Amino acid sequence: MTTPDGSGRGSGAHGLAGRPPSASGRTGTRLYWVPAAASPSTAAAPAMPSAPVVPTGGFDVEAVRREFPQLHREVNGHPLVWLDNGATTLKPRQVVEAVGEHYATSTSNVHRGAHTLARQATRIYEEGRAEAAELLGTPDPDEVVFVRGTTEAVNLVAQSWGRANLGVGDEILVSAAEHHSNLVPWQLIAKEKRARVVPVPLLPDGQLDQDAYRDLLSHRTKLVALTHASNVLGTVPPVAEMTALAHRYGARVLVDGAQAVSHFPVDVKALDADFYAFSGHKVFAPTGIGVLYGKRDLLEAMPPWQGGGNMIDSVSFDETTYAPVPHRLEAGTGHIAGVAGLRAALRYLSGLDRQAATAHEEQLTAYATAALATVPGLRLIGDAPGKIGVLTFLLAGVDPMAVAAQLDQQGIAVRAGHHCAQPALAAYGLQSAVRASLALYNTVQDVDSLVGALQGVQATTAA
Ligand code: PLP
Repeated sequence: MTTPDGSGRGSGAHGLAGRPPSASGRTGTRLYWVPAAASPSTAAAPAMPSAPVVPTGGFDVEAVRREFPQLHREVNGHPLVWLDNGATTLKPRQVVEAVGEHYATSTSNVHRGAHTLARQATRIYEEGRAEAAELLGTPDPDEVVFVRGTTEAVNLVAQSWGRANLGVGDEILVSAAEHHSNLVPWQLIAKEKRARVVPVPLLPDGQLDQDAYRDLLSHRTKLVALTHASNVLGTVPPVAEMTALAHRYGARVLVDGAQAVSHFPVDVKALDADFYAFSGHKVFAPTGIGVLYGKRDLLEAMPPWQGGGNMIDSVSFDETTYAPVPHRLEAGTGHIAGVAGLRAALRYLSGLDRQAATAHEEQLTAYATAALATVPGLRLIGDAPGKIGVLTFLLAGVDPMAVAAQLDQQGIAVRAGHHCAQPALAAYGLQSAVRASLALYNTVQDVDSLVGALQGVQATTAA
């Protein structure tokens, strides 16, 4: 399901008209949201749905769960309830087997061998690239650069494109919802080039302030760094509309898809994104492998950012020439087993009914949101319409780390801390929070386990 905004999500919830008109706390043209109530909500909570909203529509979550071995282990004497998908996703059997097979029987380097196993490894490697291109909706696999993950993808663009294209007084607009990996690389290159990083503020519900964004865009804007789904608020900004606006000023747009690709179909061409990044490990693939998509003309104009093997055409002390993209941007031996695992993960994902999987997650998110509201003293952070299943919250009187530790005793894995998005939490006056994050293999029972355990969490540490 691909929608005009390229998000693959059906509702118009991310459109500009949906934003609350006056909740932003304007100060001049720069808007910074000041939290209205710092204390956890004790308002009457909506009742938990009486009948579980059991996901329907052809998505067989139990069949999916059977493919993920880790879902069938125990932790601290309890069946594992994995609600830390924002940090990393579990791996299906197919991925484990693909990585194991590479190391057990099929180890070889790629691209430069004349023997059978080198050809086989190269075929798998390039099929992995083609799978990633298909996942992102580009017909051109050469627009896919293999990197370690989202962090390295952003650093690549900052160090290569940024160094070549940014100058004194230029502006890089970075949304306040960004993960540090889509902020700090811009701060580094901005300092070097004497450019400025300018935040695009949040509204109270976690949406990006579109009025502020329009005000901030100018001919000084050279790049907009934008999440496709926030890892702390769950917000899915209107990326296609924001990209179109940026392009009017000649700015480029880098979209961080780390939290998007596993949750809903993505189409970089419909988004018209200039760059799009994701990490394999957040989409059921191994750690250490990720993808940078870039429009071909942009990639071709970018200078190499690392030198070494694989990325050259010819080398001499007088002159070195470089290989065509994407290899020009892939110095050294890549993560070959990682690509084998990525290929398996993306094949696994494309074999599922993605529309049904997204609907399952949307229903589960709605269920979890209502269920969490029944926990006394629980305050949910971020309720933008159409958000993904990222449920960040505080529990009155209990330190977030203590909440996570008590849940862990019952086999429930959540994350606590700043979630590498300190500016986003700071917009709510917070430094730390608990996050439960859903994936397509989670169930109503997982949510019920979480809610049941939260009801019993003891106030051991002052929040
Ligand atoms: N962007 C977002 C939205 C994330 O959630 C994360 C990781 O949590 C990253 C970027 C960084 O990903 P990685 O550490 O795989 O490079």
